[in-house]
Amino acid sequence: MFRWLSGRVNCMRGKHARSETAVRPVGGTYESKCAYCGVPMLRLAKRSWIVKR
Ligand SMILES: [Zn+2]
Repeated sequence: MFRWLSGRVNCMRGKHARSETAVRPVGGTYESKCAYCGVPMLRLAKRSWIVKR
């Protein structure tokens, strides 16, 4: 519960928690989504992910 809440707080600050289980390869890079709010995320480089808009 606390973990879920703190994750959501990070989401509101723009720091999303990438879900490891939702990672999938897409056109030479990877896509995933936030483990808490489900926002789509795109991999720019190793350890560098952005929120897809
Ligand atoms: Zn999020």
